[in-house]
Amino acid sequence: MALERTFAIIKPDAVAKGHTGDILSMIEHNGFRIIGMKMRRIAKPEAEAFYAVHKERPFFKGLVNFMTEGPVVVMVLEREDAIAKWRELMGATNPANAAEGTIRKRFAENIERNSVHGSDAPETAAQEIPFFFGTAELL
Ligand code: UDP
Ligand code: MG
Repeated sequence: MALERTFAIIKPDAVAKGHTGDILSMIEHNGFRIIGMKMRRIAKPEAEAFYAVHKERPFFKGLVNFMTEGPVVVMVLEREDAIAKWRELMGATNPANAAEGTIRKRFAENIERNSVHGSDAPETAAQEIPFFFGTAELL
């Protein structure tokens, strides 16, 4: 398996509760190299565009409000099989179903406020990385 890149977010719930350091530590201990990272806020139109695939879902408005309520940490992670490995470390969308040892099991409050985001496929990563990072920002 070749080196692969994925896009990750530490969401507003986890940043506000002071879990950024613990999540970064789990990322590094699981073999990912952080090749881009910044803390910023997401504006409402950005959140709507980023989650456009979910715009007809009942949770869309709540999700946009949540993702814009406070600072996030956006990252590009690199390792072998990064997309699947990051989804594995994140755990299930609903923390009630998340496996032991996953980030969502440890930190998520509920199915909405679930601490982290990760690209779900190579095509998604290829859209999400340039949404937040220029090539000169990736090391
Ligand atoms: N979400 C929600 N309610 C749901 C499903 C999802 O609030 O019933 C939120 C949650 O924050 C989730 C995000 O919408 O992480 C995107 O949903 P998706 O199904 O893509 O889950 P993910 O890929 O983040 O595991
Ligand atoms: Mg998703």
